[in-house]
Amino acid sequence: MPEGDTIHHAAKRIGAALLGREIEAIETPHPRFERDRWPERLDGRAVRSVDAHGKHLFVRFEGDLTLHSHLRMTGKWGVYARGERWRRAPHRAWLVIRTAEHEVVEFDGPVLELMTDSRTRFDRRLAALGPDPIADDFDETAFLRRLREDDPTRGIGDALLDQRNVAGFGNIWKAESCFLARIDPWRRVADVTDDEALGIIRVARPLMRESAERGGRIVTAPGGEWDTWVYERSGRPCMRCGERIRSRGQGDDNRTTYWCPGCQE
Ligand SMILES: [Zn+2]
Repeated sequence: MPEGDTIHHAAKRIGAALLGREIEAIETPHPRFERDRWPERLDGRAVRSVDAHGKHLFVRFEGDLTLHSHLRMTGKWGVYARGERWRRAPHRAWLVIRTAEHEVVEFDGPVLELMTDSRTRFDRRLAALGPDPIADDFDETAFLRRLREDDPTRGIGDALLDQRNVAGFGNIWKAESCFLARIDPWRRVADVTDDEALGIIRVARPLMRESAERGGRIVTAPGGEWDTWVYERSGRPCMRCGERIRSRGQGDDNRTTYWCPGCQE
């Protein structure tokens, strides 16, 4: 699943393709949108801004209309030069926004909706999102408040995946940030101090922001043949202490957590 940095990077690329450009056409090839008349409703409107919060992406048009997307496990945004071959089959496109130079395409949904700008502020699902570590200002107090309101018996790794606590963490950032902060992802939230919880976020933020800027694969460990410290390195020796990295499903969704029993406590 794309994590927050991937979505922020997509927002940046989409913005570069659409801001200040004339929209030549909007198409919604997916049958689900047959009656929604988006092309008519968005006709002649320029794109005002493209932004992200956690894993949610917003294309905001003039006149109070905003496209909201969440890619979940399957979706993808593509930005192509006109005439360039798309990297997914055309029948999988839910939305195409065309300018003289680019095609911006959303493939495979699954959450794509047109809403008023004010609804994006009051929508319950969106209002419930926690602070975003990629945002210029991350509200540490709000994060701690949400974490303390959460189930204290939950493992901190699991709590970090809950978008109501912090918006944008996925499985990779969870595992890597806990490693870098030397916190065992299985430790109960009740046993993690405020400083320790903030330590995880503070180590993640610059890396996530850099990744959002750069795009491509997530890289948390320096140099050479590896990209990550623990993620998908189960059974291999820890590069910090030599202990064998472990992995196990965690939380209600049983998402695999990776950690080093030697240097994460
Ligand atoms: Zn270790």
